[in-house]
Amino acid sequence: MAIVQVAVAAPVAEIFDYRLPLENADCALGQRVLVPFGRSRRVGMIVARQERSQIAPERLKSIERCLDREPLLGADDLALIRWAADYYRCPPGEAIFSALPARLRRPVPSYPEASHAVQLKGWRPRTAGAAAQPGLLSRAPRQAAALALLQARPEGLADAELRAQLGDCRAILKALAEKGLIERCLLSAPSGSALLDVPQDRPHAAPRAASLGPEPSPTPNEEQQAAIAAVHGASGFQCFLLNGVTGSGKTEVYIRLIGAALERGRQVLVLVPEIGLTPQLAERFAQRLDTERVVLHSGLAEGERERAWQRAARGNARLILGTRSAIFTPLPDLGLLIVDEEHDVSLKQQDGFRYSARDLAVRRAQIRHCPVLLGSATPSLETLRNAERGRYRHLRLHQRAGGAKPPRFLVVDVRSQPLVTGLSHALLTRMMAVIEAGHQVLLFLNRRGFAPVLTCHDCGWISACRHCDARMTLHRDRGLLICHHCGDQRALPVHCPECESPDLRPLGQGTERVEESLRQRFPGIPLARIDRDSTRRKGDLERLLGAARDGAYPLLLGTQMLAKGHHLPGVTLVGILDLDQGLYGSDFRATERMAQLLIQVAGRAGRAEQPGTVMLQTRHPDHPLLIRLLSQGYGAFAAAALAERAEAALPPFSFQALLRADSRVEQQALDFLRQARAQVLGLAPEPVEVWGPAPASMERRAGRFRAQLLLQSHQRGPLHALIDRLLPVLRAQSGHRGLRWSIDIDPQDSL
Ligand code: ADP
Ligand code: ZN
Ligand code: ZN
Repeated sequence: MAIVQVAVAAPVAEIFDYRLPLENADCALGQRVLVPFGRSRRVGMIVARQERSQIAPERLKSIERCLDREPLLGADDLALIRWAADYYRCPPGEAIFSALPARLRRPVPSYPEASHAVQLKGWRPRTAGAAAQPGLLSRAPRQAAALALLQARPEGLADAELRAQLGDCRAILKALAEKGLIERCLLSAPSGSALLDVPQDRPHAAPRAASLGPEPSPTPNEEQQAAIAAVHGASGFQCFLLNGVTGSGKTEVYIRLIGAALERGRQVLVLVPEIGLTPQLAERFAQRLDTERVVLHSGLAEGERERAWQRAARGNARLILGTRSAIFTPLPDLGLLIVDEEHDVSLKQQDGFRYSARDLAVRRAQIRHCPVLLGSATPSLETLRNAERGRYRHLRLHQRAGGAKPPRFLVVDVRSQPLVTGLSHALLTRMMAVIEAGHQVLLFLNRRGFAPVLTCHDCGWISACRHCDARMTLHRDRGLLICHHCGDQRALPVHCPECESPDLRPLGQGTERVEESLRQRFPGIPLARIDRDSTRRKGDLERLLGAARDGAYPLLLGTQMLAKGHHLPGVTLVGILDLDQGLYGSDFRATERMAQLLIQVAGRAGRAEQPGTVMLQTRHPDHPLLIRLLSQGYGAFAAAALAERAEAALPPFSFQALLRADSRVEQQALDFLRQARAQVLGLAPEPVEVWGPAPASMERRAGRFRAQLLLQSHQRGPLHALIDRLLPVLRAQSGHRGLRWSIDIDPQDSL
């Protein structure tokens, strides 16, 4: 008897055994099936086959039907997802089905792009059959009828056709097969058959000879060459950190390596943290790499995304560029992975299946025995530590490519200066000079909207959110107060809701307000504001960035959307209006993030022939980390930050897991976590430390009170073993109505 293990699309930690009925005997690993589950039916995926089960045969249920003719996922793809589900404690079925295109989470056919003429499964009579034993079926009239039908069609009949003629006849056919009278067969589908309502795609194209395309390519400099050679030299799995200052030609290294991998007939997966970074990279790839490409990210329509996914899965697409969820794309010929901006937190999924796409890229390369390249100008401390320990090979690009100079930093102490909507006199003066010289200015302010809060000058009312411990941001363009944490909106009040006073005043500034002020100060100078509000429609961001790159806007103003990765050759002055929150954040990673953002933003300056200047406005010009960062660079900053982490035994010198809980009822989350803490202590957690529980730094969000319990250990093994013992205890608990909890492995931020 064939038994299969099925991961069911449901929030359950177990994998279930099912019997494989005879007519589905060749249903294999990576194929979806419909199975009875509790009182309903669910879609599941076969993750293993075996001969026997621990379940008593009479209790074993059968697969109802197989949904795919060919596996959707290969063994390696499945191994990666299952490993991730295990490691991040996500129910395996949920992990698998969240990795598939949305439509395939339902019991519908997968419409595979046929690599050969479509074939259907069916039954045919065995030649030395019933004739030899007359009377064998005299007491089984339905079996006799089915056999007669098949004997009239010696070439066989498809399952669907048999069903159409005989109704549900699986048991009958099985009985006939057990008697040796009929057998399984594959049938070529007649063209135009109604059974075959499957779009016919062109046959699997042999991978086109891929090569460097028509665009002229710069000759790699020595450091680039060394990096390229190192990755070329990798046989099997190896992880590389490509640590190159902004503008040092990392992308050029990617392009060379991708070209070589394509030529060897491999597929290449490139991950970037944000959708906004895909168009520019896609364009550079298109100019240089002559191959079949697809882009995969959450901004695509469902159908578009599924088509791209299918093309990758069938090997038609050779170069796959995507955001974090693309890490799970099935890739039969995968031979190289690249993670650009590997330090970026967006590579970590923050809810549901909380995985790190960067860490999974390394795991995937290991499973696949191929090289993986992590690139950044500001590598995460985790990755630097791995390089330091020799687990990753550290490749460096110290110089900007093509003769561009590194930017010069100027610190503007704004404590004693009057500011004009957040801009110092020194910055305004320099901006004027740069614009007059025909260059571009980029101003960075990581706060969208007009002002972060609206107040009443008479009674002190502030625009607090009803659902969060936060203020609502004033969006004057849209005439709204919007909470950036829960999305709640309110019409802009004309009078104070408390005292009716008309004297309402915005406090502080966001990008909208700075834009308004700049338009008054620099009349007639084209300005582009780039933030989430100004790029809400599809294509807005690409259009604005394209025009910015071509120099259409002397003035550029934006949030981190504008800061990351873009190549804007005309920018010679970058003004950073306010990064001070990062110096004193509550999260131990706050300074690391601040430093990364600062260097990334600064990296937009002077990327071409003209040298660049970065003016940093701050109230803390004496902050030691800031001084080190600006005078000695990110490497020195990171070394100091790593020493501090080692001292405090924080990651990457220890491992963490965060148990989070939230509830509409005040205290409930904290109570639950207090119990959880007691349970942890009862499990003899040594050598795992338990911190908290503590309320989140913004305790109430979207009407829910949030708290967290931190588990930390200097060894990963004991921490994970403890979690394995803790989770079943927590799952078995009841009496917490309305409470939600989750575990976050290797958390990247606390609440
Ligand atoms: P990064 O990805 O490190 O920020 P890019 O790959 O975008 O850097 O390179 C920055 C600029 O330098 C691009 O315009 C690129 O074409 C150019 N460039 C890269 N390598 C070289 C080289 N070896 N010689 C001349 N120009 C180069
Ligand atoms: Zn008032
Ligand atoms: Zn809110």
